[in-house]
Amino acid sequence: MKFAKRVKKIKPSPTLAITAKANALRLEGRDIISFGAGEPDFDTPVNIREAAVSAIRDGFTRYTPVGGIDELKDAIIEKFRRDNRLIYKNSEIVVSCGAKHVLYNIAQAMFDEGDEVIIQSPYWVSYPDIVLLSGAIPSILDTKERDGFKITPGQLEKVINKRTRALIINSPSNPTGSTYTYAELKALAEVIVEKNILVISDEIYEKIVYDKFVFSSIAMVSKEVKRLSVVVNGVSKSYAMTGWRIGYAAGSEDIISAVTKIQSQNTSNPTSISQKAAVEALNGDQSPIGEMVEAFSERRNFIVDALNSMDGVNCMNPDGAFYAFPDVSSFYGRAYDGMKLTGSASFAEYLLDAANIAVVPGIAFGSDDHIRLSYATSMKNIREGITRIEEALKNLK
Ligand code: PMP
Repeated sequence: MKFAKRVKKIKPSPTLAITAKANALRLEGRDIISFGAGEPDFDTPVNIREAAVSAIRDGFTRYTPVGGIDELKDAIIEKFRRDNRLIYKNSEIVVSCGAKHVLYNIAQAMFDEGDEVIIQSPYWVSYPDIVLLSGAIPSILDTKERDGFKITPGQLEKVINKRTRALIINSPSNPTGSTYTYAELKALAEVIVEKNILVISDEIYEKIVYDKFVFSSIAMVSKEVKRLSVVVNGVSKSYAMTGWRIGYAAGSEDIISAVTKIQSQNTSNPTSISQKAAVEALNGDQSPIGEMVEAFSERRNFIVDALNSMDGVNCMNPDGAFYAFPDVSSFYGRAYDGMKLTGSASFAEYLLDAANIAVVPGIAFGSDDHIRLSYATSMKNIREGITRIEEALKNLK
């Protein structure tokens, strides 16, 4: 069978693969603790679920407009006004089947063969592949832990060339949890405006921030950068709605109309029932977010302290999202039962084999020195998991 070249260009999502492997081992009877999850371990709040039930009862089960119903677009417009002081019109909003889907459609709408798209590393696993599937080339810009995993205007300016079409930023970041302040975004925006490139700002973890960190969107910085920005967000993380598949983007009318056109020839509208649920998420009681973030904050404090107290492990304290991203490279070269740890993949394999702990190797995110632990799991699991990791590390020769 002959397959299209694009299939070879990309890899299956490694984070989803780790979760699948952990589940398979569990079915075999192994007592696996998984730090692999990329989703809140909370249930979707009841009022949101009820809105979906009402949608079904009311027969709201047909095709909707491709880019989403006006009621949801209005709720999104109000969210941007309320939370980000950003003003958008109906024609500047598109709703898709998750933030991943909207990012995919943006890439399909905006990039051509040979275009370059700057992605800072460590990156969310899907950015390079979404860019590759559009025919464009990911231009990976490495960041350092000592710089808080952030790029500077100087670094950005240096990598921009004639073929550069866009920059993707993600604050708070998956996998590092690092966040850009308003001042840092303002400095980056100056380069973006001067070079006239697009900025795709993935703000899906906007609500999951700690220690009173104040979230800012790059589109807030100036009218000029707002014109060049496509802001991506969704309900998956903030409202524990990963299975509902609702994400959205806001940007200038011409971009949104092109993205909607692409969507009209792949999925059509996002699920009608999920759209009604998302209206309730955005317009209804916001207190479940605070409760969830409080729990994440307690877990973050515990897991980051515990990791840093282990000899040879160094973990940045993340300002947002629900991931710890420790540097474990000091263990590379050490061995257990004749198996030598050569990088993050073998380190993760060791934890799975020796301690029944599932983590995601940093190499999947562009940094082989690190592993990613999602703390979207119970305190009980985190405590037990940390004890097992500590034991496993002591057994390395
Ligand atoms: N962006 C980032 C940075 C993410 O971590 C994720 C989910 N893992 C997404 C986008 C996709 O979210 P959605 O469920 O809305 O497709």
